[in-house]
Amino acid sequence: MAKLELKGIEKRYGNMAAVSDISLEIASGELVCLLGPSGSGKSTLLRIMGGFEKPTAGSVLIDGVDVTASAPENRPTAMVFQSHALWTHMNVFENIAFGLKLRKLSRAEIARKVDAALDLVGLTGYGKRSPLRLSGGQQQRVAIARCIVLEPKILLMDEPFASLDQHLRERLREEVRNIQRELGITTVFVTHGQDEALAIADRVVVMSVGKINQVGGPADIYAQP
Ligand code: ADP
Ligand code: ADP
Repeated sequence: MAKLELKGIEKRYGNMAAVSDISLEIASGELVCLLGPSGSGKSTLLRIMGGFEKPTAGSVLIDGVDVTASAPENRPTAMVFQSHALWTHMNVFENIAFGLKLRKLSRAEIARKVDAALDLVGLTGYGKRSPLRLSGGQQQRVAIARCIVLEPKILLMDEPFASLDQHLRERLREEVRNIQRELGITTVFVTHGQDEALAIADRVVVMSVGKINQVGGPADIYAQP
């Protein structure tokens, strides 16, 4: 749980501004969708929030602390990507435990946290399985568990279900919504699907050509002509 603020963010690649003039406040515990067509700057903005890109101008604040210059590993954020990129030489448990091992937690503590994360994404008992023997939906659940186990204050999701079929996508977004509510974790979810954004967001940020076009609750956005 943390408040996220963007102030006057711009990112240029050469002469082209991928995003510009972005100021936005995301409240602690809020789920915000960045909605817009391909190329509108959603991923760039998300990567800036996570520290994977440095803005050309502007600043990123988390709970009032300026993290603009901080590397991803020094921010209380975690990112779920479109393709899950699980490590196939490790089983599910080891995939989720990896980040905790880097933090030098005890084995018992790691086991407790990994089991809780598996439980949260509905994969109790799957720890010993290879990621190669999971369905696409299960793999993406493991990717989410791997993020959540680190107890980030802010969860960043970049079209996390884009590669899944419609039915599964709808189910997983419900699950994300439930997990997000249960943990109260501030979440930014990138999508180009209006239905998806309207279904899960507390607030929708509509982007086009690198700028914020509109910000509002799902009902406000839906009411637009
Ligand atoms: P979206 O996520 O909405 O599809 P992106 O943030 O990926 O949009 O891209 C916004 C714009 O920035 C696009 O015009 C894209 O081509 C450009 N862009 C993104 N990343 C790079 C990069 N690493 N180098 C050059 N241009 C980039
Ligand atoms: P999805 O992974 O597509 O969301 P489910 O989680 O609903 O599908 O999977 C339904 C059930 O089928 C699971 O609870 C699991 O027991 C079983 N299952 C799915 N994929 C596999 C697999 N690769 N190996 C063994 N059992 C599986």
